[in-house]
Amino acid sequence: MEYFLDTFKALQLLQTLGYELFIVTNQSGVGRGYFALENVYVIHKQLQNDMRENKLQPFKDFAICPHSPDDACDCRKPSGKMITDLMTKYHLTAEGSYMVGDKLIDAECGKNAGIQGVLIRATQSKDYPSFKTLLEFATSLKK
Ligand SMILES: [Zn+2]
Repeated sequence: MEYFLDTFKALQLLQTLGYELFIVTNQSGVGRGYFALENVYVIHKQLQNDMRENKLQPFKDFAICPHSPDDACDCRKPSGKMITDLMTKYHLTAEGSYMVGDKLIDAECGKNAGIQGVLIRATQSKDYPSFKTLLEFATSLKK
């Protein structure tokens, strides 16, 4: 698996600041029949191993939408449902929670869940706070 150079440093900073980390992911390849949900689990397990190898706490949980757009499910991003379900399950508050992603639907997903959406990309967005790197975002949370 390949990561950006500063990914683990950024995640470590977030954990040091007390944030719990979740993955919220659309995996329409499952619904389209390109690969099995089991393959997604294998990748998530690898992610968790890589976290531990980098001396990080594993991700707290994963929320997966395995549906294709044609399924008209209620969980696929930009729906906020995967996030609100996690917030209910782990008693998280909207304040102090962020949905961070590199696509507009990620930020919209956060907004639809009632939390702050954040974009990681080279160009600024007029609708959401944008940062060039995850580390830049994590650093911005330091008080
Ligand atoms: Zn879904």
